[in-house]
Amino acid sequence: MKALKERILKEGRCLPGGILKVDSFINHQMDPVLMEEMAEELVRRFSDVRVDKVLTVEASGIAPAIMVGYLLRKPVVFAKKAKPSTMSDFYTAKVFSFTKNREYDICLSRNYLSEGDNVLFIDDFLANGNAAVGVIDLVSQAGADLVGLGFLIEKDFQPGGAMLRSEGYRVESLAIIESLEDCQVKFKE
Ligand code: 5GP
Repeated sequence: MKALKERILKEGRCLPGGILKVDSFINHQMDPVLMEEMAEELVRRFSDVRVDKVLTVEASGIAPAIMVGYLLRKPVVFAKKAKPSTMSDFYTAKVFSFTKNREYDICLSRNYLSEGDNVLFIDDFLANGNAAVGVIDLVSQAGADLVGLGFLIEKDFQPGGAMLRSEGYRVESLAIIESLEDCQVKFKE
């Protein structure tokens, strides 16, 4: 998606270890106009599938997910990164965090994901695919169907995208980064 790629080139910063910082328009300050355009593009790409619910993981997936859910007029639910003391009946899965370099639990109330739900997973980044694998686990515990996974930015030099596609999942990413070597953003054409 041209507008996102241009913005990454203009404002993206890279950190050691293959991390792209997009804090000025996605991860800290957010550009709602770009967010809306990105959500429209994700909705367009998944227009051939039936979606009952949009699922994401807190915190950085919530903004794109709510925009997608708003356009689809479907509920948006986010997996929580810690078990809330007020929640008793939930699905849980373990996720290894790429940016924080540690494992954490994600959990989701059984009230908000049910058997037969057609689920679209939306997140900001796809790197090693660990968050996606955790979400796939939650969806399967619920007996729901994952109809697709949509990301704003995919880092092709990390294995998540290839792994998910080889397992047959439908993955759509709006900007695919081939390399961040020498802090140069190189997109996959
Ligand atoms: P994965 O689970 O695919 O390894 O990593 C995805 C999650 O890690 C995303 O939800 C995102 O929050 C975070 N992440 C992975 N790579 C990056 C990156 O280069 N920049 C930022 N800002 N977040 C990242």
